Amino acid sequence: MPTEIAFLPVTGRCRCENARFRLEAEPIITHACHCRLCQRSSGSAFGTVSMIESHFVRLIAGKTQASQGAKSHKQIQCAECGCTLWVHRPDLGDGIALVRVGMLDEPERLPPEAHYYVRSKHPWITLPPGVPAFADIGDPGKPGVRERIMAMIAHGGSLPAAG
Ligand SMILES: [Zn+2]
Ligand SMILES: [Zn+2]
Repeated sequence: MPTEIAFLPVTGRCRCENARFRLEAEPIITHACHCRLCQRSSGSAFGTVSMIESHFVRLIAGKTQASQGAKSHKQIQCAECGCTLWVHRPDLGDGIALVRVGMLDEPERLPPEAHYYVRSKHPWITLPPGVPAFADIGDPGKPGVRERIMAMIAHGGSLPAAG
């Protein structure tokens, strides 16, 4: 896919900076979620994650550990500081990673392309015009999203066949 070749990898790290990782392809989609769970787990107004095939997320330093989060999410954390770097959702499988954008070294490169659960959005937040927003979830209409997600689910989370 040309977009993946053109994508300049973006690095990320945990709070203690022992665990470092790199996204080696353009994420499938980046979204902000304003649901109560994301507000609680981020301790803030919303969570922002980039969805990407797990084989494009490369750990380049440190060690990670997995722990069980809310709704059976598998949280991949720095083994030193326990900071969550990315999450696997049971419905998407281990082949899809939801990377916390706040962990990236250049988070401004991946602004939300959709806003979900705006029904519980904090009233002081004004959403940018032109970015799809949904009361709960919805299809933001970005080309290729469904195909990339379905490809990973179909392959059971393993690397898709080359070519
Ligand atoms: Zn750490
Ligand atoms: Zn949420």
